[in-house]
Amino acid sequence: MVGIVIVSHSAQLARGVQELMDQMTQGRVRVAIAGGMDDPENPIGTDAMKVIAAIESVFDEAGVVVLMDLGSALLSAETALDFLDPAQRDRVHLCEAPLVEGAIAAAVQAAVGSSAAQVMAEARGALTAKRQQLGIAAPAVAAPPPTPSPTGAALSQTFTIRNALGLHARPAAQFVAAANRFPASLTVRKGARQANAKSINQVATLGVRQGDEILVEAQGDGAEVALAALAALVAANFGESETAPVILPASAKQQGVVGENAGIWTGIPAAPGVAVGPVQQYRPTLPPVVARAISDVDAEWQRLQKAITAAAAELTGVETAAAAQVGREEAAIFAAHRLFLLDPALQEAARDHLQTRRVNAESAWEQAMQEMAETYRQMDDAYMQARAADVLDAGARVLRQLLGVEMRPLTLANPAILVARDLTPSDTAQLDPDRVLGICTESGGATSHSAILARALNIPAIVGLGPRLATLADGQTIGLDGAAGQVWAQPDAETQARLAQQRAAWQAAQQQARATAQGPAITQDGRRIEVAANIGGPHDAPLAREYGAEGVGLFRTEFLFLDRETAPGEAEQFAAYQAVGQAMGDCAVIVRTLDVGGDKPLPYLDLGAEENPFLGWRGIRFCLDRPQVFMPQLRAILRASAGARLKLMFPMVGTVTEVRAAKQMLAEARAELRAAGESFAADMEVGVMIEVPAAVAAADQLAREVDFFSIGTNDLTQYTMAADRGNAKVAHLAQALQPAVLRLIDQTVRAGHDAGIWVGMCGELAGNPLATPLLVGLGLDELSMSAPAIPAVKAAVRRLTLSQARQIAAHALQLDTADAVRAYLESVRLSFATI
Ligand code: PEP
Ligand code: MG
Repeated sequence: MVGIVIVSHSAQLARGVQELMDQMTQGRVRVAIAGGMDDPENPIGTDAMKVIAAIESVFDEAGVVVLMDLGSALLSAETALDFLDPAQRDRVHLCEAPLVEGAIAAAVQAAVGSSAAQVMAEARGALTAKRQQLGIAAPAVAAPPPTPSPTGAALSQTFTIRNALGLHARPAAQFVAAANRFPASLTVRKGARQANAKSINQVATLGVRQGDEILVEAQGDGAEVALAALAALVAANFGESETAPVILPASAKQQGVVGENAGIWTGIPAAPGVAVGPVQQYRPTLPPVVARAISDVDAEWQRLQKAITAAAAELTGVETAAAAQVGREEAAIFAAHRLFLLDPALQEAARDHLQTRRVNAESAWEQAMQEMAETYRQMDDAYMQARAADVLDAGARVLRQLLGVEMRPLTLANPAILVARDLTPSDTAQLDPDRVLGICTESGGATSHSAILARALNIPAIVGLGPRLATLADGQTIGLDGAAGQVWAQPDAETQARLAQQRAAWQAAQQQARATAQGPAITQDGRRIEVAANIGGPHDAPLAREYGAEGVGLFRTEFLFLDRETAPGEAEQFAAYQAVGQAMGDCAVIVRTLDVGGDKPLPYLDLGAEENPFLGWRGIRFCLDRPQVFMPQLRAILRASAGARLKLMFPMVGTVTEVRAAKQMLAEARAELRAAGESFAADMEVGVMIEVPAAVAAADQLAREVDFFSIGTNDLTQYTMAADRGNAKVAHLAQALQPAVLRLIDQTVRAGHDAGIWVGMCGELAGNPLATPLLVGLGLDELSMSAPAIPAVKAAVRRLTLSQARQIAAHALQLDTADAVRAYLESVRLSFATI
C-alpha cells in the first residue's frame, strides 16, 4: 500500500493533517509526518533529515507520496530525495497537491490499494469540491489513469441518499472504498453530472444531499455484486442516522495547542483520559543480586523451589484481588505470571546455572529469567516482545522471596500522577484509581499488561516517555492527555485550568457511559438484544452489574476447579452458584457445567495425557464419563436454582446422544434431591453450547432437546477452521469473522428459531462492537461478553435499526474472506462514528 508523508513548517499542522487522514481511513494508511524543527528557539521550519526519516518509516514497494506545504518544505523534500538510495528514490513522488485536501484525498485512495499514480491524481483533483461549492470554474484537472474498457452488459440502480449530511466525506469514503473492491467500472450520476465511483474527489464533488437520487451504473466483472454492496451501504445509511450528528467540542488533541518545543512531551498513548496534578516518583529497586559460590547445589535448588512456590501463591492472591477490581479476564495475566514461574524450561535453565556455575539461587534464577526475557525481546511480534516485562515482573517475586525483601505497597498519601521508569502489572494492579490521577512511564508499550490494566482501571496513562521523566520533581504539577499521549511538563495556570476542565468533562462522560450502559440495548426500531456478561466466579458479578450486564450469559464454572489440589465439593459449589445468583438479583445466570480438558487441564482429575487434547476428552465428554465429578455439580446447580434465575448449559456438545445422556443425569440429580427433600427450580431452562461444527450440522435435532443455544465462537472457530485458537502461526485462520464461521452462526440461529428456541452467543465475537451490526442482523437474541465490553456493544445496538442490521448481515454473508468482512464492518463502523 502506498505510504504518505506530510511535510509542514509546523509540527502542529502536520499532526492535525495526520489526524484527519487517520480518521478518514481508520488508521489503515501508513502516514508519517515531518513537521517543524527541533529547535526550541525556532520551531517553525522544515528539516530534510526529518523528511528522510518519515519516508523511510512508511516506505513500501508500492511507493510513497510526499505532500508539502510551501517554500522550504519543497526544498527539504527535494534534498531528502537526494539522500535516498536510487532504488528507493524512484518510488518516492513529490506531489504538488494542496496539503490538507490533497492529503485526505490521497489517504482515501491509498486505503483502497490504489497505485501511487492514482493516489497522486486524486490528491491533485482535491480542490474541485471547494471550487464547485464556491462557484469557481475549474481548471483542467489531470485525468485519472486510464482503466481497461469493461465488457458485458451495463447494470444500473437508483438510490436515494437519506444521510443527514448527504454523501459527505465519510459516507463518500465508504462508497469509494466499497466501489474499489470490485473490478467492474462504476459510474455515479446525479442529474446531468457524473462521477467515477472509485474516485473520492469525484464522488464528493457531486454534492449529493439528503433526499437526492443517484444512479449508479456498473459494467464488467462483479458488476452485480458491486451494486449489491453499494445497495447494502446505502440501505444501512452508511451506518449514520438520518438526523444531523451532534458536533462534539474539540478535544485537546484537536485543539492541538502546543508542540514538543513548548514543554509538551509526547509518548505512546496507553489509556485515555486527562489529568493534572502533582508528580509522585515511584522508582523501587531490589538490592543487587550478588553471585556467591556455593557447595551444596541441592540445598540452593530447594531454596529456589521454596521461593517459587511462595511467589506462585502470592500471585494467586494478587489475581483474586485484581479480579475483584478489574474483572477476571484482565486479572488472568497473573495466572500467566504464575505459569511463567512454574515453567519447566525456566526452572531447568536456573538449575543448569546452579550446577554449572555453582552459584547461589538468586544469581542462577536472575540469569535464567533475564535470558528468558531476552528470548521474548528477540521475537518479531511486538506483542510478544512486550511479554519480556511480564517475565521479569513475575521473576522479581521469586528474587524478593530469596532476598527476603518485602514488596513495598504502592500507595499514595494524596492524589498524584505516578511517574515511573516502568510499572509492572503487579504494581499497576495495586493502584487505587481514586488516588492515582494518571500514569507516566519512561518505557513500556501500548500492549503491555500495565497499559491494559491501566485501561481497565480507567487511569489515564502514557508510556514510552523516555528518561526525561526522571527530571520531574516530586510535588511538581504536570498535566497529561492519555489519548493524545501528551504530557505538559510545566503547564501554566491557563493550561492547568483547561486540563482540569477537560478532566471534569472526561469524568462526566465516563459516568454518563456507565449510566447509559445500565439501560437496555434496543435498536432504533424496537428490537431488544439481551446483553450479558461472561464471568468466572462470584467476585466477577458486581463488576458485571456495574458495566450494565442484564444477566450472566456464561458462568465458566471451571474457574472454581482451577489452582487447587482437589475438586470443590458439592457444598462449596452450591455456595458459589448461590452467591452469583444472589448477586445478579432478578437477572438470569447461565451456569455452564465443567468444561475441562483441552487447554484447561486439571491435574487432580487425572485426565491423562492425550495426543490431541482439543479433540479429546473434554467438556461434556469427560463429565458424562465421570459421574463422581458431574453429579455433585448438577446437584449444586439445581439446589442453587431454588432462590435464583439459573439456567444450565452443557459445553462441547456434538451429538444428540450426549445431550440426552446429560439430561438423564440431570433427571437423576433431581430425583436424588427430591428424595432428600431439597428444593430446586423444576422448570430451570437447559441449553447447549454450539461450539463443535457437528452441533451446527445437527442443530435442528439438538434444538428439539433443549431450551436454548449459546454459540461459542472461540471453539467453533478453531474446530471449523482446524486452527488451534492459541497458535499464532494459524491466527489468520482462527478468526470468528471467517466466512465459514459466519455461515455456521447463521445456520445455527435459523435452526434455533425454526424450532422456537432462543439463540445467544458467548464467544469472544459477541463482545466485539465491530461485529454487533452483523450479529444483530443474523438474529441473535442474546450476546454475552466480558463486562468492560458491554457499554460499547449496547451503544452499537442502539445506533442500528433491525432492517439496517439485516442488510449488513446479508452483505457480510456474501463476502468471501475474513479480511473483506472486517473491512466491510469497519466501513460500517466508520460511518456510525460521530463527526
Ligand atoms: C467458546 O468456545 O466460544 C466459549 C465461550 O467457551 P470457552 O472460551 O470457555 O472455551
Ligand atoms: Mg468453548
